Amino acid sequence: MAVRMPLQVEALHKAYAGNPVVDGLSFALEPGTCFGLLGPNGAGKTTTLKLCLGLTAPDAGSITLAGLPVPAQAQAARARTGVVPQFDNLDPDFTVTENLLVFGRYFGMTHAAIMARIPWLLQFSGLENKKDARLATLSGGMKRRLTLARALVHDPDIVFLDEPTTGLDPQARHLIWERLKQLKSEGKTLLLTTHFMDEAERLCDRLIVIDHGRKIAEGSPRELISAHIEPQVVEVYDEAAGALAAFVAAQRGSSARVEVSGETAFFYCHDPQPLLAALAEASGLRYVHRAANLEDVFIKLTGRELRD
Ligand code: ADP
Repeated sequence: MAVRMPLQVEALHKAYAGNPVVDGLSFALEPGTCFGLLGPNGAGKTTTLKLCLGLTAPDAGSITLAGLPVPAQAQAARARTGVVPQFDNLDPDFTVTENLLVFGRYFGMTHAAIMARIPWLLQFSGLENKKDARLATLSGGMKRRLTLARALVHDPDIVFLDEPTTGLDPQARHLIWERLKQLKSEGKTLLLTTHFMDEAERLCDRLIVIDHGRKIAEGSPRELISAHIEPQVVEVYDEAAGALAAFVAAQRGSSARVEVSGETAFFYCHDPQPLLAALAEASGLRYVHRAANLEDVFIKLTGRELRD
């Protein structure tokens, strides 16, 4: 049965050695939806997930997971939550089935209850033909699907997914996305962190962008795009040295907002026609005209400089 309040976080604070890592964060997940937690490296996403699971204690603020206070009742709350960690931590010495069995026992399930659930888990993860396979024989995509199946062994209401498709090829990513949509349609609540803005745009009903432990934007992907960015983007690439700089200089004073990053100029605008007409006349340039997307919003809010 779905919980009424899958996760609610209020005024959460956590500092390491005096440095705030989560700095007054509040958000709430609606049942049966996918909620995105986005932010550049070091923004505080993993720490937030750990706090929500009761794996680290907050300095201040309140967390309610699966209707239970965390950390006070973290263990009971975790029993209603599945976790797909950033890095697969499956047992390499065990088979697919054995990995599911070990995890089910960890949640106090009986052998019979786990065995009864395994056929569905294997079917869900497309691993029916791999039930006795050793881990070493699985591809990266299969291991990720097994990690997802493992997170579902105890039929949780809420699933935390920490970068679930990092390192996967496009086919494997699409399969994971289909399965996550299926979970949502079955009433599960998902909390997703990802660096792929197309993934967030596809899967998330709502999301927050955090930076330096603080929330800097919140809404549905569509709402964020219309609130934060011009609707049209023209990306212009230099093909002959100097052509781009000359073109950008000539466009000064046009209504488009321009950002230059290396050999590319990004023009953000409401009406791209004057720009496209100028590009038709220009030489030494290539360009792409597209609709604004969540990545544009993310870059606008968090900047282009590297964070690592
Ligand atoms: P993200 O998941 O968004 O990349 P993290 O939550 O992993 O961010 O980290 C946020 C910041 O907190 C980083 O600067 C990181 O170095 C620091 N941090 C995370 N965990 C610890 C820890 N156990 N001790 C000290 N600093 C930490």
